[in-house]
Amino acid sequence: MDLQEFRDGLDAWLGENASELEAAFGPDVTLDQEMEHLSKVKRLAFDAGWMRWGWPERVGGYGGSTLMRAYLGEALASRDMIEPGIYSMTEVLVPTMIEFARPELAAEMVPRLLRGDETWCQGFSEPSTGSNLGSLTCRARRDGDVWRVTGQKVWTSLAQYADRCVLLARTGAPESGSKGITALFADMDAPGITVRPIRAMHGRDEFCEVFFDDVPVPVGRTLGEVDRGWTVAMDLLPYERSTSLWHRSAYLRQRLGRLLASATDGALDPRDLGEAVQMAFAFHARSRGTQHRMARGERLGPETSIDKVLLATTEQTVFDLAADAVAPGIAVGDDADSDRWRTEFLYSRAATIYGGSAEIQRDIIACRLLDLGTDR
Ligand SMILES: Cc1cc2nc3c(=O)[nH]c(=O)nc-3n(C[C@H](O)[C@H](O)[C@H](O)COP(=O)(O)OP(=O)(O)OC[C@H]3O[C@@H](n4cnc5c(N)ncnc54)[C@H](O)[C@@H]3O)c2cc1C
Repeated sequence: MDLQEFRDGLDAWLGENASELEAAFGPDVTLDQEMEHLSKVKRLAFDAGWMRWGWPERVGGYGGSTLMRAYLGEALASRDMIEPGIYSMTEVLVPTMIEFARPELAAEMVPRLLRGDETWCQGFSEPSTGSNLGSLTCRARRDGDVWRVTGQKVWTSLAQYADRCVLLARTGAPESGSKGITALFADMDAPGITVRPIRAMHGRDEFCEVFFDDVPVPVGRTLGEVDRGWTVAMDLLPYERSTSLWHRSAYLRQRLGRLLASATDGALDPRDLGEAVQMAFAFHARSRGTQHRMARGERLGPETSIDKVLLATTEQTVFDLAADAVAPGIAVGDDADSDRWRTEFLYSRAATIYGGSAEIQRDIIACRLLDLGTDR
């Protein structure tokens, strides 16, 4: 199937199944309901074949250009059928699984995530280690056929729903820095794991603390080489900072359109509106270019920090505009849609933090792309 056939067929299918696929949004919709809906959308799209295009056949896909799966996410987000943040976990984690998991493990596990039968999470950050990931202390020690993991992760998105975790743990000496880290694929129902959700300011228990107490992880679940987990992390983060955000670009343009349609005359400051539109299209153009680079088989790297900076700036600009125009002061909204704006406005503050903070992205751009010094 070529891309145009895919788009035409998918658009028709989405139209026919719109009532079943459309998601509900706003503060009255719980995260449990959002997660349930996401699983349903993925299952329906997988069983109809759409979710399988753009992924390699060896992990249950149908092959074809990665632009197909990009279009699927874009189409779902722009039609309000998914919340792009929770949908994006697939785009963050699957490319790395394909690259670094044993082929049999990737073949067994990836279809479960694509079909929405499972949720996975990403256990990188720790209480004293976010930006400075190379200093993480969660430890894995070898014990026969298993690793035994002890330590704590934090801000682990959706961990309370997760069946598996892509985890970074220290296997080298405490002072080994980025050279003594190993990536593991852990079962979240393994003995010794405790998950404690954290309430974020937009009212959702979006992320969690995760405690590991001598948790067994089979050695066959090692991703990449022992002590080379940094390579895995450096492979994963560019997806988190770019291609997984493409759906968010579609979503932001959809919300901007909705804002224009619902704002009363004179409510939108023309200069602020111009800035938001320009940002949204600049981010879209950048993100489109990155999708095409991935489709050509290019390896993504530090240049994806530009995508992440543009996403964060655009997201906050769009919802600042909404705050001024539709829900002044982001006080308690008096109708469902202004409540949705409020939730989105609050969540947009996280855009300069998740996936690596805005300062860290600018540091990478300055040091690794513009050669303006050495980043720490
Ligand atoms: C909504 C959300 C979801 C998340 N989901 C996950 C997840 O699923 N898995 C996961 O592992 N993590 C997740 N995170 C955590 C996220 O990756 C970290 O919060 C982020 O990397 C920042 O790390 P930190 O919180 O430890 O802040 P710190 O690293 O302590 O930084 C604090 C401040 O200092 C600044 N700073 C730090 N170092 C430098 C420097 N060298 N130069 C300039 N400024 C610096 C930072 O920019 C920031 O402003 C999530 C975060 C959010 C908000």
